[in-house]
Amino acid sequence: MNGHLTVFELSKPGRIAVDMPTSDVPEESLETLVKAEYLRSKPAQLPEMSQPDLVRHYTALSNRNFGVDSGFYPLGSCTMKYNPKVNEDVSRYSGFADLHPLSSPKEAQGALELLYTMEQYLAEITGMDAVTMQPVAGAHGELTGLKLIRAYHRARGENRTKVIVPDSAHGTNPASATVCGLETVEIKSNPDGSINLEALKLAVGPDTAALMLTNPSTLGLFETHIQEIAQIVHDAGGLLYYDGANMNAIMGVVRPGDMGFDVVHLNLHKTFSTPHGGGGPGSGPVGVKQNLIPFLPTPVITYDGNQYYLDQDRPQSIGRMHSFYGNFGVIVRAYAYIRSMGADGLRQVSEDAVLNANYCLSQLKEHYHAPFERNSKHECIITAQKQKAFGVRALDIAKRLLDYGYHPPTIYFPMIVDEAIMIEPTETESKETLDGFIEVMRKIAHEAETDEAKVQQAPHSTVVGRMDEAQAARKPVVRWKD
Ligand SMILES: *Cc1c(COP(=O)(O)O)cnc(C)c1O
Repeated sequence: MNGHLTVFELSKPGRIAVDMPTSDVPEESLETLVKAEYLRSKPAQLPEMSQPDLVRHYTALSNRNFGVDSGFYPLGSCTMKYNPKVNEDVSRYSGFADLHPLSSPKEAQGALELLYTMEQYLAEITGMDAVTMQPVAGAHGELTGLKLIRAYHRARGENRTKVIVPDSAHGTNPASATVCGLETVEIKSNPDGSINLEALKLAVGPDTAALMLTNPSTLGLFETHIQEIAQIVHDAGGLLYYDGANMNAIMGVVRPGDMGFDVVHLNLHKTFSTPHGGGGPGSGPVGVKQNLIPFLPTPVITYDGNQYYLDQDRPQSIGRMHSFYGNFGVIVRAYAYIRSMGADGLRQVSEDAVLNANYCLSQLKEHYHAPFERNSKHECIITAQKQKAFGVRALDIAKRLLDYGYHPPTIYFPMIVDEAIMIEPTETESKETLDGFIEVMRKIAHEAETDEAKVQQAPHSTVVGRMDEAQAARKPVVRWKD
C-alpha cells in the first residue's frame, strides 16, 4: 500500500503507463496552428509511472472514500439510499448518453418523450398539475418555485415580499428566499416540533408571499395541522410552498397537491435513487398548480399527440433556469428507478423507510436521549445530551462510528435540538445492517460512560483524524506543490 504518497512522489523518470502513438503533427507546424503565447516553453511536470503502480495508487485512494456501495450511510436529511445499478446502465444507453444537447427537437424525440413522461409521473406522485424538470438541485428548485410565486403575485398587481419559514425548515429555505430578493419571517415551533398556529396567524398579512413548509420537517416529523395551515396562508392571499426533498417518507401515501400546496420541489438525487454527494449532480423538479403554469421556465415541453416540441413562446414565463433541459443524465436514472419500482413499489419504499427509522429510534432511545415522543417519519432524532454529562459530544460519537466502519449520521442539525444526531437509515438496508449499527451505537454509549477518552479522541483507524473543518472549508489546499 503506497496510498500515502502522491503520484508525483511515486514518479520515476522514464516509466510509462501506456504507449502513445507517435504524433503525426510536425513540430514546426505547431507554431502556425497555435499562437506562440499559448505554447509551453518547457514540458509539463507530469508524473511518470508504470501502469500497475498507477492502478494501485488510485485503487488505494478510492478505498479511502466512503460511499453507499461501501457501507451503511445513515446521513439524516440526505437520503443516501442504495442506487440500483440498472439505473446506471439505462443512463448510458447511447441514444441518451451520446445525444448532442443542441440536437433539434425533431432529432431528440425520445429524450423529450422521457422528460415529458417524467413530468407526468412526478405530477401524479405530488398531486400537482404541471412539472418543470429544469432545476438541478433542491435549492435550485426552491429558487425556481419562489420566482414562480413572485411572478404570480406581480401578475396580479400585488407586491408581496415576505416568506414565512418555520424554525424546523431546512436551511436552504430562508437562503432561497433571500437569493430571490424576498424577506424571511421565522416562526417558532411548538415543543412537540409542530408549527405554532398562533404564531403563524400573527405572521401572515397582506405582504405574505408564501409559507415554505418542509414536510416531514427536519425533525423527521409529519406536520399535523396541514389543513389549518393551508387555510390560514391562503386566506391571507399567500401561496403554499412544499419542500418535498423528504418525499421518501410519503410517496404513494399522501400528496402535497391534495394537502393544498401550490408549489413543490422534489430531490431526484435523494428520493429517486440517483447518486449524489460531494456537490452534484442533482435534479430538483418543481411541480405547480394550474394558476402557476403560465410562469413556468422556458422552454416548456409540449406534445400534440404525435410529436414533442420545445415551446419558447410563453410571455409570462420566469425565463430559463438552466442551460438546455437540466441534468438530463440524472433524470434518466430517476426514470429507470420509477419504471422499475412501479406505483406499489414506490409506496413500499416509503413504508419501509419509515419502518426502518422507527426501528432505529425504538432500539436506541434507552441509550440516548430522544427529544420527541411521536413516531418519526423516514428519519429520527436522538441526542448526545446524556453522554454530554461524561464529556462526550455528538461530534465524538460521529467520529467513533468511523472506527467501526459506519458513516456517521448528520449531527448538530436541525439546530433547534441540542447535540442532535439525525439518523436516516433509508429503506434499502436490511434488518441485519440496522442491528449492526444499533449494536455499535449502544457500544459507543457504553464507552462514553466507561472510557470517554477513547471516544473523545476518535477516530483511531482512519488515515486522517480530526481536521480543522473551518479551515478545510474556507482555505482548502487542493494543489500539490513540490
Ligand atoms: C437536501 C434538502 C434540500 C436541499 O437540496 P439540495 O439538492 O442539496 O440543494 C432542501 N430541503 C430539504 C428538506 C432537504 O433535505
